[in-house]
Amino acid sequence: MKYALVTGGSRGIGRAVCQKLHQMGYEVLINYVSNREAAQETLALIEGRGELMQFDVADGAAVTAALEGWKAAHPEEYIEVLVNNAGIRRDNLLIWMEQADWKKVLDTTLDGFYNVTHALLQPMLLHKYGRIVNVTSLSGIKGLPGQTNYSAAKGGLIAATKALAQEVARKKVTVNAVAPGFIHTDMVEGLDEATLKKDIPAARFGDPGEVAALVGFLASPDASYITGEVISINGGLYT
Ligand code: NAP
Repeated sequence: MKYALVTGGSRGIGRAVCQKLHQMGYEVLINYVSNREAAQETLALIEGRGELMQFDVADGAAVTAALEGWKAAHPEEYIEVLVNNAGIRRDNLLIWMEQADWKKVLDTTLDGFYNVTHALLQPMLLHKYGRIVNVTSLSGIKGLPGQTNYSAAKGGLIAATKALAQEVARKKVTVNAVAPGFIHTDMVEGLDEATLKKDIPAARFGDPGEVAALVGFLASPDASYITGEVISINGGLYT
């Protein structure tokens, strides 16, 4: 059995990534924070070849408890693919932004990255094989007004990707990031799609499956010499 963990695997991009990794032969651990029903739907879509794993990625103690529990139940195995996908946005101009919204977005992305990656890294190094793919955003490359919290979080995740890639490359663990533009998920509900797509050369939002195809490639053995990269997937909406 080969195991992969997708944070925020219950919906949107994370669900599509779970499906892709399932097609690639992985047992998929589907993390979610509160939407158990959606996570169960993802599990059904991958024919039950995985398990649900509830925790808030920002809660270090909860992450440790869940992952140590998994390790205790699978003493001979390890999680060789980690997709740090869980993310939220709490948009506002900085002048109106509450500290709680600043903190929640940074904690989910950056503490989430630390908590889950730190827990899974050592077995990857010991086995001399691992794939870590971080889901960042165009917002973390370009900076978008109304998203100083989200841009800071995703930009920080890009920097962490590049730093960690250099720490672990010799052990055949790769660390890359994907940076989607606008993708059809719950996260973009309420955005003015008709206006926004005028600026996208492909003239449309992307689909979660298109992002999952890229994540799947970076998570595959074929991507063994790619590390520390940030690959945009945005229909030509360059910075
Ligand atoms: P989504 O449909 O809103 O789904 C978010 C997922 O993250 C859900 O599975 C949710 O779990 C989970 N989640 C949120 N907070 C969490 C936490 N604290 N701990 C564990 N899981 C948590 O979002 P999406 O559009 O698929 O976004 C996925 C990733 O892509 C995010 O990192 C987002 O920033 C990034 N992204 C999205 C777009 C876009 O246009 N959609 C563009 C660029 C980047 P529950 O179901 O339990 O709530």
